Amino acid sequence: MEQNSADLLTLDGPFADLLEGFTTRDCQQQMAASVERVLADGGSCVIESGTGTGKTFAYLVPALLSGKKVLVSTGTKNLQDQLFHRDLPIVRKAVGVPVTTALLKGRANYLCIHRLGLVDQDARYADELAAIRKWARQTHRGDIAEVRSVAEGSPIWSRVTSTAENCLGAKCDDYDECHVKKARQSALAADVLVVNHHLFFADLALKEEGFGQLLPGFKAVIFDEAHQLPEIASDFFGVILTGYQLQGLCRDIRLAEVAEKSGIAELIPRLEALEKAIADFRLTLGEADRRAAWASVEEQPAVQQGLAVLKDCLGVVSQVMEVAAAAGEALGNVWQRTVDLNDRLEMITSRASTDYVAWFETHNRNVILRLTPVDVASAFRERRDNGDADRAWVYTSATLAVNGSFDFFQARLGLEDAQTELWDSPFDFQQQALLYIPQGLPQPFAPDYTQALVDTIVPVLEASGGRAFVLFTSHRALREVAQSLPQRIDFPVLVQGTAPRSQLLTQFRDTAHGVLLGTGSFWEGVDVRGEALSCVIIDKLPFASPADPVLQARGAAMEAEGRNPFFEYQVPNAVISLKQGVGRLIRGTDDRGLLVLCDPRLLTKSYGKYFMKSLPDFPVTRELADVQAFFVE
Ligand code: SF4
Repeated sequence: MEQNSADLLTLDGPFADLLEGFTTRDCQQQMAASVERVLADGGSCVIESGTGTGKTFAYLVPALLSGKKVLVSTGTKNLQDQLFHRDLPIVRKAVGVPVTTALLKGRANYLCIHRLGLVDQDARYADELAAIRKWARQTHRGDIAEVRSVAEGSPIWSRVTSTAENCLGAKCDDYDECHVKKARQSALAADVLVVNHHLFFADLALKEEGFGQLLPGFKAVIFDEAHQLPEIASDFFGVILTGYQLQGLCRDIRLAEVAEKSGIAELIPRLEALEKAIADFRLTLGEADRRAAWASVEEQPAVQQGLAVLKDCLGVVSQVMEVAAAAGEALGNVWQRTVDLNDRLEMITSRASTDYVAWFETHNRNVILRLTPVDVASAFRERRDNGDADRAWVYTSATLAVNGSFDFFQARLGLEDAQTELWDSPFDFQQQALLYIPQGLPQPFAPDYTQALVDTIVPVLEASGGRAFVLFTSHRALREVAQSLPQRIDFPVLVQGTAPRSQLLTQFRDTAHGVLLGTGSFWEGVDVRGEALSCVIIDKLPFASPADPVLQARGAAMEAEGRNPFFEYQVPNAVISLKQGVGRLIRGTDDRGLLVLCDPRLLTKSYGKYFMKSLPDFPVTRELADVQAFFVE
């Protein structure tokens, strides 16, 4: 008899034997049945599945049963590893069908045997290199995440991994053993392949390490953490050029010249002129870090002058390199790169239109120039079908709906025809949680807001005994609170930016009563179960900055269509971000926790109700006494 996904996820099914404490969840079985239908019939399905529904098994079981080649894409490399090494083996065992699986990451995650052979002994990295060499002799996958003793961010990795530019491809002496080649081959041959969104979109847009072969080979695609897709797609369907890329190009041209000696005397002086032009152009945009539309500066004489010199220098280097390229393969490769970066500079600074917004960011000495599509939906739609309209697409996440509607997510990716399904979290928020909306805080843009916030959260933290995340919408507010809060409470305060994220989280888990102050990446993908995290405090509703050039361009496009960008874009975007932050609190049926939403606009503005209605069913209080009682219970 044919197996059915929902039946496998019952107490009579195989998971009950394989997983200690496995319980059946109606929502998990229903989601599995929905995914099974889409995989069989094709088409698109958008699924919000609240925290605790068990969505990973709900899509993996039908994926393995489908008999189709399925590509599963998730948000980060860590989630990829978790899915591949922890979840997939369990599901494969439970389902009991012969299915080949593979994991594929970007090129920079695999050891390059050729470059490891070339790397010089360097006293600074002697221990790390010894560990890498030892591992290199025995690894099958060559995935650098296997080397626990060398930090992920260590500079040694860039010397023993490859880039699309420096890889020798089929001409490499180590090609037969090449880990990148082998990973791609097994990826294309697998029944179920696990990738991450960056790799998926790089491939779809033929950017960076994309090799344009992933999608055609698969009959179904499942995106987990799908709420991240519009922003990632937006990056990959656009154009980017950074000052660091240009400086890296100059460095690599020098190295190639040393190795292959074109003998062109003017090459080095031209490179020096280009390096100076890159630095000078950066300075024309002001010293402070900023992010703004290109249109806001392009008429400034200093910027025009700096850009003209930069284009001129890059153009000259490109011409010289065209001649130098004949001297060898490495010089040929860097010439191709010069042409590519030159094209990008031209595109970004002269091709802005109503369809694309040109903008820039500056960080310290780097400048990042970007051309971003205003509408991601049409670009995604075009590439998605790719000659196979029968392919099945599943988009799932705990945070896709706004007030029960998927319109915002669907419109952003052009998925208006998709089926939608929503399963709330099975946790009992009425019993397990409390939402506190403090009284008396000023409007969030008032100058004394952050000070008032500290005054408000101190008694809350005393009641919770620390054990809290305080999530901020800006680095400025985080810094201010990090200055004053430690003097006001007796609990250890951990501050984002003082140590790597993973280290801070380990410290938080190990420190009873810790208070972690974070922004950005701490709003999502953090899983701290149990009492260590009993309170999540959010300073403001997470609206994107109204000065953001991409937001402004998208807003202008919506206004031109007679739409309301605030209610149709900014509010839903902020609702989804808020749901991510709130999702850190209750991670299991035994968790209890307090959510504190400090922003008074939640109750005073008309849009506040969209946020409230999009959250789980919390009991709400405005009284500190209820908070204190909650932690005494
Ligand atoms: S083919 Fe490329 S990635 Fe593979 S070993 Fe050779 S240079 Fe490295």
